[in-house]
Amino acid sequence: MIQPKKSLGQNFLRDPNTIRKIAASLDAKSGDAVVEIGPGTGAMTSELLATHPKMVALEVDQRAVAHLNEELPDLDVRHQDVLTADWYAVSEELGGSLHVIGNLPYYITSPILFSLVDARDVVAEVVVMMQLEVAQRIVAQPRTKAYGILSVVFQRYCDVKLLFKVSPHVFFPQPDVTSAVVRLRFKADAPPPSPGEDLFRQVVRGAFGQRRKTLRNSLRSAFPSLDDLPEEWAKRRAEELTPDEFARLSRYLGDVLER
Ligand code: SAM
Repeated sequence: MIQPKKSLGQNFLRDPNTIRKIAASLDAKSGDAVVEIGPGTGAMTSELLATHPKMVALEVDQRAVAHLNEELPDLDVRHQDVLTADWYAVSEELGGSLHVIGNLPYYITSPILFSLVDARDVVAEVVVMMQLEVAQRIVAQPRTKAYGILSVVFQRYCDVKLLFKVSPHVFFPQPDVTSAVVRLRFKADAPPPSPGEDLFRQVVRGAFGQRRKTLRNSLRSAFPSLDDLPEEWAKRRAEELTPDEFARLSRYLGDVLER
């Protein structure tokens, strides 16, 4: 068994109860398309493999891949940077909507989750461990400090739930932060990727880019060709708008900016 090194900057799960609890949070049935991100030395993988023998694991560390090939010869582990994963191709190969699970490398939590949101028409569900602070931003409600880009974007496309917190003690090496497991269930009626949805993302980024300013000011800086906003929006601030209101605002901007 290779011992994870502190220099990897990753935290490996060491508590069988926590591992079982995370694996059991995935709704996937046997035969569903399951992908594990960053299996490492396989702490959660053996648990998953028992129910999902066709699962795929994506791991960037060649030593971990070699270790898994030896310890779990039936596992389809791929030496790959998850940020280069083509989720559409993986879904086609596995023959179904993806159920994605992992104890994420925390420094790339957001890009990984955004890549999954961008492939939302082939992703059913995501159960991942991340830093508690990021989890709280994902599930935050309007008019709170934690409410921001992550809350609006993920809540537009997914039902989000912070399932449970995880103490630093169950990891080796122990991280400095508390962690949390979050489930994102993609809504069946989530709008698929389109230019309108790209604009939605730009509007959310523009509005939160200067979150203390009114939308009139923040969006005029983000969209220099914008003359003004109707009174309904002009004096409000980004943190007051629900994801649905952002969608309505971005449809309005799509109309006026096109002219
Ligand atoms: N799942 C294991 C566990 O819980 O013990 C390991 C979790 S550790 C936090 C994150 C894992 O993700 C490490 O094995 C690391 O090598 C892997 N990893 C880091 N960056 C990655 C990337 N860009 N693509 C794929 N795997 C990555």
